[in-house]
Amino acid sequence: MQLPADPHMQQHPIYDELPRRRLGHTDIDVSIISFGTSPLGNVFRQTDPSEGIAAVHYAIDRGINFFDVSPYYGITVAETQLGKALSGRRDRVILATKCGRYGDDVFDFSATTITAGLEDSLKRLQTDYVDLLQAHDVEFGDADQIVEETIPALRKLQEQGKARYIGITGYSLKNLVEIASKASIDTILTYCRYNLMITDIDAKLIPFAKEHGVGIVNASALHMGVLTKRGAPSWHPAPPAIKETGQKIVELCAEKGVDAAKLALKFCLDHPSVASTLVGMSTREHVEANLQALKFEIDPMLLAQINQIVDPVRDYIWSSGNPDNYG
Ligand code: NAD
Repeated sequence: MQLPADPHMQQHPIYDELPRRRLGHTDIDVSIISFGTSPLGNVFRQTDPSEGIAAVHYAIDRGINFFDVSPYYGITVAETQLGKALSGRRDRVILATKCGRYGDDVFDFSATTITAGLEDSLKRLQTDYVDLLQAHDVEFGDADQIVEETIPALRKLQEQGKARYIGITGYSLKNLVEIASKASIDTILTYCRYNLMITDIDAKLIPFAKEHGVGIVNASALHMGVLTKRGAPSWHPAPPAIKETGQKIVELCAEKGVDAAKLALKFCLDHPSVASTLVGMSTREHVEANLQALKFEIDPMLLAQINQIVDPVRDYIWSSGNPDNYG
């Protein structure tokens, strides 16, 4: 595709209008499309580092102001890359990172580790504070420890000015709500729980979030690659039926001349109670395509056909973390 010759000079009307929403009870307004940086850590496939940095710059210039990372993504690679990309641009973004998950099976939600971990993250991110610090994939931890030790430690880091707000992230809505009912947090980030394949945040999370003023970030609009032409990566936890369903949707959309990724993202952007939808990106081409989703109009007939394809596997959830936390 043709990119503008000088992205710093050209402003397309679409991007000037990139809407923002308030993140729960915080004083932060986030762009409704946000930049997921796990691809910068080569989580999906090997990416070109210079293109990744160009994609971050391109996104900022187009009005995307919210960036989510974690020391886990590429085991520090994504944070290092994002830090380089944000050098000189830090004040233009809302920066979220995480703590407590440091490898596929490496979790430590102790106050000591997350406090030291943040210092390392700040160095990699080339900044002295983050806007949002989140305990990462809490269903792998012990809920009592998260409530009694991790969240108080996050609040202490907030008091020290190292994080403006704090939150939790994870897949199990049951676990996220359980923790948030016992300890005050500002945001919840969940993934693969609201997109074309599944919409169960509406019943299981949104009512709680509205009642308590918790900001909701919805990640993985493309169901971690399931709803893309390339398909799911090998590590994807969904069973084959989900991945096959995703490919049927992609094929149906292609027959109709529609980009499935755009449709899938627009479906998420239309959710009024989600502050921001995170989509993983590492190229300017994907940033551009995803911004165009803002103006995409979903054909109700095509959506009905997609829904029919999804129905047999709709709202399927896989297990993640401690078995007690399934849900
Ligand atoms: P996703 O559903 O956003 O899919 C990302 C994949 O889709 C990547 O391979 C990317 O290259 C590709 N893609 C993006 N735009 C595309 C387009 N227009 N056309 C075709 N392919 C496109 O999954 P994700 O990256 O896992 O989720 C988004 C972000 O949310 C992550 O990067 C991360 O920041 C965050 N996240 C957090 C958690 C957590 O905290 N537990 C879990 C999952 C995701």
